Amino acid sequence: MSIRPYIVGNWKMHGTRAMLAEARAIDRAAERLLKVEVALAPPFTLIHATRKEANLIAIGAQDVHPADGGAHTGDVSAAMVKDAGAGFTIVGHSERRADHQETDAIVKEKADAAIDAGMNVIVCVGETEAERDSGKAEDVVTGQLAGSLPTGEAVVEKVTVAYEPVWAIGTGRTPTVEDIGAMHRKIREKLVSIYGEEGASVRILYGGSVKPENAAELLAADEVGGALVGGASLTAESFLGIIMASAEAQEEKS
Ligand code: PEP
Repeated sequence: MSIRPYIVGNWKMHGTRAMLAEARAIDRAAERLLKVEVALAPPFTLIHATRKEANLIAIGAQDVHPADGGAHTGDVSAAMVKDAGAGFTIVGHSERRADHQETDAIVKEKADAAIDAGMNVIVCVGETEAERDSGKAEDVVTGQLAGSLPTGEAVVEKVTVAYEPVWAIGTGRTPTVEDIGAMHRKIREKLVSIYGEEGASVRILYGGSVKPENAAELLAADEVGGALVGGASLTAESFLGIIMASAEAQEEKS
């Protein structure tokens, strides 16, 4: 298993070409921070330009359509984002599950399509606040994993899981380090039950209000292999703060 923390920025529906300066600054700094694997998922419109600006970091998409092509106005296929320069895609983000009624089955189709197109995938899972309050968080997350993860020959090395409690996204609230560790251990158990012993090597990221100030603490939790970062990835200054904190957390863990 790679022990380099994997820190992925999700720019969501933010950014015009003016924001490429941030990507450039992140890429330049990543050259000095080789202990961390850094990636950015800009909106579709910036994938190609970001790939051209950034040499070192991975560039990905935030979503893909399950079909290779066809009459799907406004949608974009895995082959298209790959052609634009994306090496991976996020699938199943809770904003897509909620805004576009994406079920686990749809998320799995998207993950399978991305892998078929030769890309890596980050599959997002996470419970709502009501699900946590009613004691169902672990069942919800393991159910999402069972329904959303890609299956088939040689897929495991292409998969990363992001645990993102819905109530922690963009709210400034985070679970305790103990709760994060407990959920990540449960996810690990489920990955091994789905993929066999290879499931032990799948990276599990934490996402939800990660900031430079809390990154070291959150990333030190059990089984956390990195972070999926929304708001705090929009400027090089805050994203680099997280990247540096993750390098420190990694040193303390090893
Ligand atoms: C996200 O949307 O993936 C996310 C984690 O957002 P934020 O960091 O802003 O909570």
